[in-house]
Amino acid sequence: MKKVVKFGGSSLASAEQFEKVGDIIHEDENRRYVVPSAPGKRFSSDVKVTDMLYACYETAEKGESFAEQLADIRARYQEIIDGLDLNFSLDNDFEMIEENFRIKAGSDYAASRGEFLNGKIMAAYLGFEFVDAAEVVRFDDNGAFDDKETDRLLREKLESMHTAVIPGFYGAKSDGTVVTFSRGGSDITGSLVALAVHADLYENWTDVSGFLIADPRIVKNPKSIETITYKELRELSYMGASVLHEDAIFPVRKAGIPINIRNTNAPEDKGTLIVESTCRQPKYTITGIAGTDGFAAITIEKAMMNSEIGFCRKVLQVFEDNGVSIEHMPSGIDTMTIFVNKSAFEEKEQKIIADIHRAVQPDHIELESELALVAVVGRGMKSTRGTAGRIFSALAHAHINVKMIDQGSSELNIIVGVKHDDFKNAIRALYEIFVLTQI
Ligand code: ASP
Repeated sequence: MKKVVKFGGSSLASAEQFEKVGDIIHEDENRRYVVPSAPGKRFSSDVKVTDMLYACYETAEKGESFAEQLADIRARYQEIIDGLDLNFSLDNDFEMIEENFRIKAGSDYAASRGEFLNGKIMAAYLGFEFVDAAEVVRFDDNGAFDDKETDRLLREKLESMHTAVIPGFYGAKSDGTVVTFSRGGSDITGSLVALAVHADLYENWTDVSGFLIADPRIVKNPKSIETITYKELRELSYMGASVLHEDAIFPVRKAGIPINIRNTNAPEDKGTLIVESTCRQPKYTITGIAGTDGFAAITIEKAMMNSEIGFCRKVLQVFEDNGVSIEHMPSGIDTMTIFVNKSAFEEKEQKIIADIHRAVQPDHIELESELALVAVVGRGMKSTRGTAGRIFSALAHAHINVKMIDQGSSELNIIVGVKHDDFKNAIRALYEIFVLTQI
């Protein structure tokens, strides 16, 4: 059995956190491949090392003195080394980093040092071998991630290694230029390593005990989700629930490797298991509730719209030409409504309306902003009658007017549009009916 374990920044922010991580790894000998993030925040007003590196490099790029900023970064690592009582020095590494900052090696290079140095400390602490991600995670000449070459390089390198530490977040082009993934990208590295070594499980250790049924900022002490499918997760992440980098899912999903989200500060919690499919029925009819704010709706009305061939296409073309992405599109007999991200739409609002008038000569266009979408997601909904009924009666009871309904044909989710002011109450009402008053 092989496990790949990725630890997030808050799990590695200090020597105490490193010790917890060490205990977790030593407790199970299958935890053989370790992917660390850079040190994160030790307390809420603290600064992540990655952000310190970006800021320091910005100073270097301006040609100003960055010595003090680099010394602060170095102190973060030294505190960990000293706290762990390690006989280990990053002197040479910092010399090289200073030099590379001076010759302006790029902000990706700068940011990547957060994971690189933390990986070195982790390898020394665990007695595992260190693998520089620049050698095994490949980007092409245009800076696009090269999955095939990465898989080949990782496989080749790790095949003969029983244990290893591979820092997350970055890789390099074939000429050695360092490139990073987007923020939070260590999750992706973990997933790539899991794929390459044919891991049985990808454990992603963070500071929460998995996914919660609803946002804890909205619902008090929500219950956690034990098992979730990749599809359900996709629906919930789209709606704003974020624990894992979206791009981390694809590599393991195609290989059928489950991801287990675990809590470094509560290792006894089972966390959430993310799987391709499962016979395990969720505890509740729904798996999760999520929502996002900041939508606008454009309703286009025209008599006999339904019989006008090409009507929808022409409307959609207007949005495409203006570079505005469409989020949802519920339609009526003589109306179609387009939900878009309000901030993306706002700038081009008048131009889009004029273009729609020109393209399809509607009778009427109505705009509504300050809308939110709330999604009730769950594989259990398919086999349960009356889910939609319960949703609407819960919302009606809470005096919430439903502006839009969208049920995907997979029956995996029902999305309702509500006014911004009703957003939080809608989530609370849905949590109450499906989780607290479950029959
Ligand atoms: N250290 C990087 C960040 O702060 C990557 C990661 O932690 O996954 O975004």
